[in-house]
Amino acid sequence: MGPTLRSMFEQTVAKYPEKEGLVDVRLGKRWTYREWDEEVNCLANTLKDAGVGKGDKVSTVLFNTAEFATTLFACMKIGAVFNPINFRLTAKEISFILQDAQPKIVVFEKATHPQVEQAAGEVKSVQFWSIDQHDLDFAVNYEAQMEGASRERPDCELDENDLYAIMYTSGTTGLPKGVLHTHRDMIDQALIMGTVMQVTDKERGLSVGPMFHCAELHCAFFPRVMMGGANIIMHHFETKSVIRTVKEEAITSFFAAPTMWNMMLQEDLAEADFSALNKGLYGGAPMAPALVKKLHDTLGIRLFEAYGMTEMGPAITVLTEDEQIDKAGSAGRPLLNHEVRVVRTREDGPADPADICEPGELGEIIVQGPSMMPGYYNRPEATEEVMYKGWYHSGDIGSFDEDGYLWVSDRVKDMIISGGENIYSREVEDVLFDHSQVMDTAVIGEPDEMWGERVVAYIVKKDDSLTEKELDEFCTANERLARYKRPRRYEFVDELPRNASGKLQKFKLREELMKEV
Ligand code: ATP
Repeated sequence: MGPTLRSMFEQTVAKYPEKEGLVDVRLGKRWTYREWDEEVNCLANTLKDAGVGKGDKVSTVLFNTAEFATTLFACMKIGAVFNPINFRLTAKEISFILQDAQPKIVVFEKATHPQVEQAAGEVKSVQFWSIDQHDLDFAVNYEAQMEGASRERPDCELDENDLYAIMYTSGTTGLPKGVLHTHRDMIDQALIMGTVMQVTDKERGLSVGPMFHCAELHCAFFPRVMMGGANIIMHHFETKSVIRTVKEEAITSFFAAPTMWNMMLQEDLAEADFSALNKGLYGGAPMAPALVKKLHDTLGIRLFEAYGMTEMGPAITVLTEDEQIDKAGSAGRPLLNHEVRVVRTREDGPADPADICEPGELGEIIVQGPSMMPGYYNRPEATEEVMYKGWYHSGDIGSFDEDGYLWVSDRVKDMIISGGENIYSREVEDVLFDHSQVMDTAVIGEPDEMWGERVVAYIVKKDDSLTEKELDEFCTANERLARYKRPRRYEFVDELPRNASGKLQKFKLREELMKEV
């Protein structure tokens, strides 16, 4: 027993039945909480009739749509496990997840149809439901399935420790793993994030960060639903429409990946109106302090930063808007009820949670908290590896400062070792970002006979005239970077490989580099 995400949703419905709950910007449709609940019940009963029972999985390959939000809560109503799949994945990657998760139903849309249809050929006993197509051989229409279904709440015995979702990690460091989360995990995460961000029923939140990713879903969307705020959903990120919607819908809060905030700054902001916005949030990747400052100077907003990982629900630390003044670039301090440590790494196994680093000393970030996953789906060894002695080992390198703020330097796998010295790509990227003509950058190591590895910087320029010489001078001037950390080579590119959550896919850059080598 205990509270579940279903009971949380239904309490909001009871409290605010006639308040706007859901808005789908693309469709121009609006639902009050009562209407949304009825829609959810209708789908839940339809899923039940289609053979989905408690513990069965339902996958989505959807952009941000009303159907995504409805499927999510419909699963909760019948105890089904929700499996949101990244809409940018290839057919091969989707097929991998479907074979691993074994869902009963996959809900998708026209925009993801090609990958899904290809993946469908690889899996058996799965029903495919399209939200916007009627004429497909391998799939039925979602709305047509719902016709005539009851709009009453279905009965279901749910426990707070029942699974709520399987979320596959983005695979920036290997094959995706299915992270399991229970109802209890997510209630705790939403309560803690809602409290730290002071979310109220007055909120009008924009969901434009990908909802399949837990950063948007758990840190922004759930706290808002829990408090009875309005959820304005945008299909995908497109700078001009975001800027317009923020103004038209008087948006008070939204989450966007650092790269999305950066893209907004490149737009003409003469007509922009961010005056209602009192909570901007970013996370999932670091934001260069220069960018944080630029956002404040241009739009007058300071952002909350969340740091974390899917396995932890995700947020484990937060840097509040006030703290951005003195601690920009830090990931903030641990969230309520979370214990975060930086511990010394070892060559021969996972870091020992008792071997704690001194302030300023770099080590691996490990954590315990109420929203920690019970484990990976079907991967006991992988679970054991990261959960050493009950602490989740993040694979991130960082340090605490004297004031208890956490600074994330790099992923263990992204660290560059040159001439025996460790170089943290983030430090070099932050310096490059400070250059006014740099729009985006990624720093990686390339093999070097003499030094083992040497630093290479990929640069997206703002202005064509920017040269390698200029950047090199910038890095050395004012002792911005020690000599050994300076990029030895610059590659100018049109864009950097990023996944749907805005994370740099450095493995793709490394793959390209190895091909050249
Ligand atoms: P995979 O584990 O398959 O590589 P992933 O790690 O990209 O996938 P996520 O859980 O989305 O999956 O990402 C978590 C990682 O993102 C963290 O471990 C950290 O490296 C990075 N990250 C998240 N938030 C921040 C932040 N605020 N600052 C710096 N890095 C961040």
